[in-house]
Amino acid sequence: MEIIVISVAQYKEKDAVVNAITEGRSFSFYAKGILNPKNKNSFLNNTLCKANITLIEGKLKYPILESAEFISSPMLSNCSLGYLNALLTIDEAMIHLFDSQEKFLGYEHVNKTLIALRKGQNPLYCILYFLLKILPSLGFELEVKNCVNCGSKKNITDFSFVDGGFLCSKCAESERRYNNTQLLLIRNTVLSDEVDAIGDATDDDIKELLFDINVFLTDGIGYHLRTLDSLLK
Ligand SMILES: [Zn+2]
Repeated sequence: MEIIVISVAQYKEKDAVVNAITEGRSFSFYAKGILNPKNKNSFLNNTLCKANITLIEGKLKYPILESAEFISSPMLSNCSLGYLNALLTIDEAMIHLFDSQEKFLGYEHVNKTLIALRKGQNPLYCILYFLLKILPSLGFELEVKNCVNCGSKKNITDFSFVDGGFLCSKCAESERRYNNTQLLLIRNTVLSDEVDAIGDATDDDIKELLFDINVFLTDGIGYHLRTLDSLLK
């Protein structure tokens, strides 16, 4: 089964309990010896690494790792600070925003975001993609096809995370929050299945949205992504 490692906790000397997600499931397993750098499976001691694993049931609380095959690691030999912060933000979001049984809902989005990051996509945009994609799984659907308030498809002038989507000129507040590039960025990103809708957006356009998402998450879920703060500096 193909997994992405979310967190690794020490259990006895060199053993660990690994928390991971796969398509349709979030779970933990015991992995003997992986905290020893010489262990053949030590690559699993690396959050957001991807691997193919087989588990066996034992007498312990969690299944036990039988074998593991390395697929990919997010760590590159020369990562930029933005890249590293993006990885930390994804991992922090996966650990803290989801309930433990529901982390798998982020699997596809983590996977696509990691691939885009490795291909050299803008780290700020990768995080925006990731956070916009997981919002529905966290209970926050976004309406980007018409005004979320009155349903009008005309004169869309603004967007609100709190209202949950686009707003038309009649329903929006007089002072606009976002410019047209940002509205297009939100719409295309929410509607796209690939990390490819950055358009003409600048880093500042993206940073403003990321800042607002973090405020929204803090109010809505009660958790503030600390690593996102460093990404926005
Ligand atoms: Zn309206």
